[in-house]
Amino acid sequence: MNDLDRTFLIDEALKAKLLKCPDLPSPPGVAIRILEICNDPHADLARIAEVVSLDPALTTRILRIANSTCYAGQRKVENLRQAIVMFGLNGTLTLALSFSLVQAHGKRDTTGISYNAFWRRSLAAASACRQLGKRVGLSNTEDLFLAGLLQDIGMLALEQAMPEIYIGHGNLQSDHRALHAFEQTTLEADHATVGAWLLARWNLPERWVTAVATSHNPESALDTEHQTLAHCVAVSSDLADFWWSDNPEAVLARAADQAEKWLHIERETLADVIEAVTEEVEQTASMFEIDLGDTSLMLSLMAQARELLIVRSLHSQLQAESLSRTTQSLESRTRDLEEQTRRDGLTGIYNRTHFDAVLDEELHAAVTQGWPLALALIDLDQFKQVNDTYGHLAGDEVLRQAAQLLARCSRNSDTAARFGGEEFVLIMPGTDLQGAQVVCDRLLTAFRETHHSISDEKSTVVTISIGLVVQGEATSFTDTEALIQAADDALYAAKSGGRDRIIVYDKQQKPQKPGSDPSFL
Ligand code: GH3
Ligand code: MG
Ligand code: MG
Repeated sequence: MNDLDRTFLIDEALKAKLLKCPDLPSPPGVAIRILEICNDPHADLARIAEVVSLDPALTTRILRIANSTCYAGQRKVENLRQAIVMFGLNGTLTLALSFSLVQAHGKRDTTGISYNAFWRRSLAAASACRQLGKRVGLSNTEDLFLAGLLQDIGMLALEQAMPEIYIGHGNLQSDHRALHAFEQTTLEADHATVGAWLLARWNLPERWVTAVATSHNPESALDTEHQTLAHCVAVSSDLADFWWSDNPEAVLARAADQAEKWLHIERETLADVIEAVTEEVEQTASMFEIDLGDTSLMLSLMAQARELLIVRSLHSQLQAESLSRTTQSLESRTRDLEEQTRRDGLTGIYNRTHFDAVLDEELHAAVTQGWPLALALIDLDQFKQVNDTYGHLAGDEVLRQAAQLLARCSRNSDTAARFGGEEFVLIMPGTDLQGAQVVCDRLLTAFRETHHSISDEKSTVVTISIGLVVQGEATSFTDTEALIQAADDALYAAKSGGRDRIIVYDKQQKPQKPGSDPSFL
């Protein structure tokens, strides 16, 4: 196994097939001669001009490309020497290789892939690669062009070695990622690896080999010497499907993500790239004898690209923002509504339903955790008289103020609620008898001292009676009904005892109904 073979993980059987294949793509004679000159440290442009001029078709193409608007702004190039000066050694080699490879491998007819579609895509990828490279500050634009152009050459090699592989899968040509995935599952090798292997056999520079090898795996080019070139090639691969895809919008969205991720190219800049590529492909396709067919679709896609990239992304961003605002407002409205269902309509403090739920939870927690739970049932004294004296509406107002006073006097960890009518409840989790009594005394005092206003001139004081029960060691309850009943019994005792007081439930002295055992009091 030599170094070359070790670098490329190609299945041995596939490699044997490739090596045996007589028609493996190879650089034509003129390109090989230019390659030799480039590898010679004493190479000069005159010798290259000499070699290129031996191929009249290549000469014409190089002159035409030198004068195309892709190189606009430069003076007219009249002879090959001027063109070669303009392109430089590397650029001339690139062009010679590109033209001659397309020529040599562009004509065959096959039932698998379409060669015209193959080179059309490769040309777009080459041009995209050059345009992307320019945007990220790479200067050797011809280098980029060739790397982009050759990235899929492995497909030609694979098809030569195994003519059947793409038969029936020609449709994958419009979805390059799908084609790549198909190769990996059927061959356990892909055109990127085979292409890189091929370029290395042609003794092409390491940077092109790396870029082609990683064209479908930009991650693996990270932190390598040729990272930027390799990433331009990988992004160009995703972008090249755009003009001939069944779903250009999706292709563009993905290419934009890739351009952002690997090259930090913004969507606006990518729109510029697309415009430049469309123009360049349109102008140079004929020099490569590539048939673009009806170019109106390409041009209309180009016209749409900016809108697709910028306006729609902005639009979807705005939509997303407004959606999230709507969701937020819905969520807060739901929260508001939920809160509303827990509140008592008249007084604004918690209602009976919420009280029942909280008491259920707290009693369960108290029983299982073994901590105390105090419950105070609070009834306004002689409230009927308030209604009778000031009217029902004034009574409502006093109820509201009484509820607010109760809420103000209770701690955050406690739950104050309207139990019904002029009765309120206070749940005090984790509070023992002593603590609950302190709270209830404070309440009693607060009510004695508070004047509830009825009108500008009038106000009234309303005292309260409290029935207090504590779930704990001495008195233990299995359900909330029993707990509430106990508080109610104590409250009854408080009323019977003269009102404006607290009575603590005592199961030994369970009060009787009116007229019976007065010993409880
Ligand atoms: P006691 O000290 O024995 O509790 O006397 P009381 O008058 O407060 O008790 P009673 O049960 O005889 O009467 C309760 C009164 O509370 C009668 C009822 O009209 C009034 N009341 C209940 N709910 C409301 C309400 O929402 N608004 C008004 N204004 N009055 C209410
Ligand atoms: Mg590829
Ligand atoms: Mg009352």
